[in-house]
Order: sequence, then structure tokens, then C-alpha cells
Amino acid sequence: MADELTRRRFLGTATAVGMGLSRHSLAEQATVPVTVCNPLLRTPLSLIIDDSCPVINKAYYWIQQRHDWRLRHAPDSKPSGWEVHYDKLDRMPNTIPAAFAAEWGEWCGEQGIRGKYSMVPFPAGVGRIDRGFPGFPEQELKDWLRAAKEIIWKNFDLTPEMLTHTRVVDLKTWELTDQWEQGEWVDPPVDKLTEYITTAMQLLKNVGIACEGVTSPGAFGRRKEMAHARAVLEAALQVNNNPRPFYFMNMVMGAMPGVPLWHVDKARGRAIASIVGCAGDWFGATGFDVADPDLFIAADLQGGRLPAVLAQERPCVLVGHWPCFYVNERIGFKVLKEVKKRLDAYDPDRTKTIWMKNSEIGHYWMAKELSELSVNGSECRVRTQFPTADFTLSLPGRAARRVQVNGTDLRQVRSQRDFRGGTFRVTDKETFVAFDLKQGDMVLSITQ
Ligand SMILES: [Zn+2]
Repeated sequence: MADELTRRRFLGTATAVGMGLSRHSLAEQATVPVTVCNPLLRTPLSLIIDDSCPVINKAYYWIQQRHDWRLRHAPDSKPSGWEVHYDKLDRMPNTIPAAFAAEWGEWCGEQGIRGKYSMVPFPAGVGRIDRGFPGFPEQELKDWLRAAKEIIWKNFDLTPEMLTHTRVVDLKTWELTDQWEQGEWVDPPVDKLTEYITTAMQLLKNVGIACEGVTSPGAFGRRKEMAHARAVLEAALQVNNNPRPFYFMNMVMGAMPGVPLWHVDKARGRAIASIVGCAGDWFGATGFDVADPDLFIAADLQGGRLPAVLAQERPCVLVGHWPCFYVNERIGFKVLKEVKKRLDAYDPDRTKTIWMKNSEIGHYWMAKELSELSVNGSECRVRTQFPTADFTLSLPGRAARRVQVNGTDLRQVRSQRDFRGGTFRVTDKETFVAFDLKQGDMVLSITQ
């Protein structure tokens, strides 16, 4: 009952109004706000990969199962979604090799790309990640787990994308039902939701993956988003003792994205973040869908969706579906390489953007919106149950000569390029400080 069901948005900045940082007399002290900024004054970038799973190409089985299902249940209806590619199944492999996952993960690591990578735990009902894939070489699952855990996980959160990403599983029999996770369970039975999500997380746990959140297959849960968010938080606590998970369900194409936080319990340091994608999958989805780097960021570095979002300094989360990175001559991987090249040209000295995992964005926004800031003379106090890396504050007023956090000096840097956690930077208008925010109280002492 101690729960505040509060929707918090990007623009709700945590602001403390204090008595100023100067040592002047009270009469001269201006009322100045302390503001939480974007991390290291850079706009988050993040890459979400959906539909990735060990061993199999999920798109291949999704299309096949959807086709069979339609012929049985609605033979007069037209194919919809990816089923329109049924005639291309012979050009789609039914597996994606672990060696490719390793290569892709290494490349992302070298490039500094971070984000979220799905590991569907019982993909298409073909095999369980903790039991094996009948009909496929055993070694392939082992190699897949190694690639996911040792290479990809360094830079990407790993999440289930519920159990099969095709048909709903009956958890008593482990048989597939006639319902679809992204069909009927767009409006899920709330009483079954927590058990279903807990099971998905547990399968990953069984192979040593403590997931940081979940991904909705399609619009799974969207018509009961609050119940979904509640179930994910409960499952995360139950399986991984994680009080601050995230989920990915929503994308905004017209409006600007934020990071809504739900089910906030400030005292216990619990909340769940909704990570919102800001662009369509223009990597090619199945390998045979729209694949166009210009829609993300045009060659002139101004056109496209990403520059518009970055200009507003909003979390810029790209979404792609795993099959296209491999299928059809790696068309999606080619698009990703071009998009990354252009993003690097957009921000050549890396002063404007910062790649983050989904969980890092979630934790940052919790710290930003749920921490209590107070200013008293030359001291600024931050009280929080929501820790994060690189917590960045703007202290308007005069230039600081020295900044200490809990008695430890931050190093002064002269340029935005060098601005990192554990440093402070002075401009003509304000002082920016960045440090790792820990649970409890932290005190900043500012000397002018
Ligand atoms: Zn998906």
C-alpha cells in the first residue's frame, strides 16, 4: 500500500530550490535551482535487439506457425504481419549460428554500442534454453550461451521476450496453446501474468542469466500496461531480487520519447522503468522488410528520426529485429554499420551522446526523478534509494574552485570532452558535477 502509482516523465526534473551557493550575505543570495541533467551532459543512445534467441531463427518459425494457425482457425482471412513473407521461407535459414552472434557482439563492443538484447527462453516452443533444442547440434546451444553471456552481455542487457514469442505456453503441460503471446495476450489474463513472466525469467536464470528486465513480444500486455509493469517488478524481485527492473513495450514515432517510471516505492527503493523506442525497425526486421539507414539518420546528418530526437536531448532508443542482421546477406548489419558511422560523424568527439544499456537509462531516470536534493549554503545534499552511475548536476551561480563529494575531491576538467564521472567542469554560468550516486545521503561541498 506504500506504493505511489505515479507516471513520471522526462520533463519532470528533480529540482531543489536552495539558498544559493555563494558566501554572500542572505540579502544577496539568489534562489537557485540545482538541476539533474542528462548523464555527463550527453544524450543517451541505446540499441534494442528484439527476437534474438539461441539456435533458431525465430522469424522462420513464427511465419510457419502463424500460417498453420490461420489455415486452421481463419482460412478465409488474409496473411498479416510477417506471414506475408511465407513465400520466402526457402530463403530464410531456420537457424542463426552462434558464431555470427559472437561476431556481431564483438563488433558492437568495439564500436561502443550498448543496449538490450532479447534471449527468448523457449523460442517458438522449439527448445528450452535450459534443456536443449531437439534436432539441432548440442554444441550450438553451448556456443550460443557463451556468445550471449561472455560477449553480448557486457554491453547489452539480456531479457526474455516472454516464453516463446509465438504461441502461449500452458505452464502445467508445457504444450503450446492456440493463443498467441502477441495476439490474445495483448490483453493478458492478469492472474496468470506474474507466473508467466516469472517462468520466463527463471529459464534464463537456470542458464546463469539474471535478466535486468523483460521485452514484450509485439504488444504483449499493452492493454493492461500497469498490471504488466506490476507483474514484471514482482517477477524481477522474486527471481533475481531486482527492485529496479525495466520493460520494453512501447515505441513513439511522432512524439518525443521519455522514460516513464511506474509503481514507485521511494522508501524501499523500488520502481520499474518503461524504455521507449523512438524509431521504427528500418534495419529490415525479417531480412525482407524496410532496410534504410536514411530513415534513422540521413547522409547530411540532419534528416531522419534520430537527429530530431537528439536535438531535443531525449533518450534515443533504436529498435531492430535480430533475424535481419544475419538473413538476406546480413542486410540489417549493413544498415547498422552505416547508421553507426553517421552517428559517429554527428558527434565526432563524443561530447553530445553516450551509449547506454536499457537498464542504465532506467536507473539514471529513477535517480533523476526520485532523488531528493537540498541546498544549504555551500552544501548540496542528495538523498536517494535509487543509485546510478554518472549522476550529473548543474549548480547555477558562481564558478566553483573545489568540489567534494562525501569528503573526496572531484577533479576539475576544462572541456566537455573530458567530463566524466568523478569530475567537475565550470562554465561562465554554472558548475557541472558528475559522480556515482550511492544509496543513502551524499553531500557535495562547493568552494567558490
Ligand atoms: Zn519481438
